[in-house]
Amino acid sequence: MNFLDFARICEQLEGKSGRLEMIGIISRVLPDLADDELPVFVRFVMGRIFPDWSPEKLGIGPSLLYEGVAYVAGKRKDDVVSVVNRTGDVGKAVEELLAAKEQTSFFSEELNLLDVWRELSAIAGTSGNKSQKEKLRIVRKLFSNARPLEGRYLARIMLEDLRIGVGEGNVREAVARAFSVDSRLVEHAFQALNDLGQVALLAKAGEQHLRDVNIQLFHPVRMMLAQQGTIEGAIADNGAVAAEFKYDGSRFQFHRKGKVFRLYSRKLEDITEALPDITELLINATDHDLIIDGEAVAMKDGRPMPFQSVLRRFRRKYGIDTLREEIRMVPNVFDLLYLDGETLIDRSLSDRRAKLEEVMKDRVAPQVVSDDPSVINRMYQDALLAGHEGIMLKVPGSHYTPGVRGKNWIKVKPEVDTLDLAVIGADWGEGKRAHLFGSFLLACQDNEGLVPLSKVATGFSDEQLQEIYALQKDKVISQEGKEVRFEPGMVFEVGYSEIQVSPNYESGFALRFPRFIRIRDDKSVDEIETLDGIRDRYTRQSK
Ligand code: AMP
Repeated sequence: MNFLDFARICEQLEGKSGRLEMIGIISRVLPDLADDELPVFVRFVMGRIFPDWSPEKLGIGPSLLYEGVAYVAGKRKDDVVSVVNRTGDVGKAVEELLAAKEQTSFFSEELNLLDVWRELSAIAGTSGNKSQKEKLRIVRKLFSNARPLEGRYLARIMLEDLRIGVGEGNVREAVARAFSVDSRLVEHAFQALNDLGQVALLAKAGEQHLRDVNIQLFHPVRMMLAQQGTIEGAIADNGAVAAEFKYDGSRFQFHRKGKVFRLYSRKLEDITEALPDITELLINATDHDLIIDGEAVAMKDGRPMPFQSVLRRFRRKYGIDTLREEIRMVPNVFDLLYLDGETLIDRSLSDRRAKLEEVMKDRVAPQVVSDDPSVINRMYQDALLAGHEGIMLKVPGSHYTPGVRGKNWIKVKPEVDTLDLAVIGADWGEGKRAHLFGSFLLACQDNEGLVPLSKVATGFSDEQLQEIYALQKDKVISQEGKEVRFEPGMVFEVGYSEIQVSPNYESGFALRFPRFIRIRDDKSVDEIETLDGIRDRYTRQSK
């Protein structure tokens, strides 16, 4: 497929808002793609480049992209930035710049979908001190061969934000329709493989191939997530529940085959090197090939240390040996997804748990199964006394559903008024903070997009503002006056006193007295508060 054809399809999708129409357009394209094009198309159309399980990152920030475009368009980087500010969209800005250039030059090469993919993979593969230069060289090359419309989507793919409103749900349906297979099978295969590109290939090969999927070792699976609830509610709905402590640490997934092992974070990043104490304890606790799910906590004198300590360990790249003396991490294992060649996510929790206890000598989180609220309540009090966050209540007959925040896992913890929100913009600070961002624009999730909800300007120490500046300065997409917009990625946990109805933000709500609590770099933007959740909280609070 020519990249121009891909760009035209994106343009067509960008103009549509109806879900069915979008599914129709995509499903008509898929059957005509060659086997090597199909997974690439499927990922690109969602604004992704690599499989979701893959730790590969493109590593192009807006700044490098602007530099590349400036060179090709014969402009200065500042000129590119002003076009981005005027259009409010990197894609449209690149399109405009390339159109102005087009009148004066010829194209040297036609771009096709696979070439683009290969070049982007090459960018991700660069490393070492020459890597910026090499990335820039490839970016220039791609843009110099791109027509204006191609430039629009190429730029957006490079920033992994295609802005055509095509999400996983639409693509799953389109795959099912294109190859006449049951969409539940597509969803299930996606949960196991964590790559819709690969799933599309299996769907093309036939339904049986989707049925036969197995989780792959070293391809991390999305984590199953929990909903908030109460002990009484969970027992009324399910009868007996399996209760475990809710540890205040960070999620991990551990894969092991023989002597080879890897540890992944909640965002599926490879964190093996940062946590040798966790991997040692896990390796020693079992001889089996397996994939386990658990929570890593920092312990001191038998009590959990604050979450901040856990984050220091998860983030640390150097000096790990010294830090591991200061902050000792231990794993609490609570689930088993794969054992000695067999995928277990479709077994009941009680089955998985029985196997887990069989194959792991220790490190398994204690569990109590009961339908008696007083028994579970006692466990809840014990959890809080021991310094944990609360308890998790799980439905014993339930499957492991990767990436799903359903009713089969219920978290019970003391009500705290904090929200996890995406940081989508900022204002420059004032006075001695003029060179840093001072206040931040926060958004929640609504269907396929992020909607602004509030600003937060208090609760930051100088060090925190400096840290945030360092992390975000290359994520600026556009600037107007004192306001900048970021490529979404960073998540803040913020406290507030009340949710108010407000015409000032697109969400229709605003936070009263918002204050910064911490960066949640263990969470991705997909996991932040939803607009439905905000509405819910608003209703509960009004009562
Ligand atoms: P939350 O981050 O508030 O949505 O709560 C869900 C998180 O609690 C999970 O993603 C885990 O990181 C963590 N957690 C702690 N203990 C457990 C447990 N026993 N079972 C499942 N998740 C747990």
